[in-house]
Amino acid sequence: MEEQLLTACLCFWLAVLGAVLGSFLDCAASRWAAGDPRPFAGRSRCASCGHTLGARDLVPVFSFLFRRGRCRYCGETIPAECLAAELAGAAAFVCVGARFGLCLELGQWLVFAALLLALSLTDWAKRIIPDKLLALLAANRAVWFFALGHGVREVLEAVKALAVPAALLVLVLVMERLLGREAMGGGDVKLLFVLALYLGWAELFLTLLAGCVLGLLWAALTGGKKGTAMPFGPFLAAGAVLTACYGGPVLEWYFGLF
Ligand SMILES: [Zn+2]
Repeated sequence: MEEQLLTACLCFWLAVLGAVLGSFLDCAASRWAAGDPRPFAGRSRCASCGHTLGARDLVPVFSFLFRRGRCRYCGETIPAECLAAELAGAAAFVCVGARFGLCLELGQWLVFAALLLALSLTDWAKRIIPDKLLALLAANRAVWFFALGHGVREVLEAVKALAVPAALLVLVLVMERLLGREAMGGGDVKLLFVLALYLGWAELFLTLLAGCVLGLLWAALTGGKKGTAMPFGPFLAAGAVLTACYGGPVLEWYFGLF
């Protein structure tokens, strides 16, 4: 009982933290997409009228809902992506908090989720997954690899897992030869290579599957405009967080079938 209360408390604060982070990252990603050389600098402003936003305008989720998605100063609609990024940040942090609880390993997965959210937003805005974010994601794993006292077993796991994106890369290259067009974004393949440092080979398959299902669902729900390429990164990222948190029981069930 006491433990459940502690987890609920932890999840509440992680939801707040995740929403604030989502808001911040969305702001930085949209500045980055607009070509701002310093996306992290300066106060938050309204994208339409440029009015500096006060504390009242910066309460994640609630500011958006109270103002019905409109700027207080100019009445212009605030992009729904702002709210989506805040909710995604909160959801990802709550998932990770509920799964890992208050322990050292939680740190690794919070940074994991935060970086995946950041690269989802850049992929969404500009169809680009920056190499810098992928490098940070790999570096985070390297740091925690030592902090968590991992050893030979984890290295072997990672080597096995790396075979999945490697096989996929070969498949994509062959398909591109045959089709004569891009079959999968280069950034998505690179992302899978980095995810292999965190997830086992079976979990990577599950991540790919979850990413495809989520992507198809999204396309079905939004009517997926023909001709416009949908970014796969955000769905792959969501699939990775879900797999990291809930993949274990799913895979146990699946392998139990044989
Ligand atoms: Zn405004």
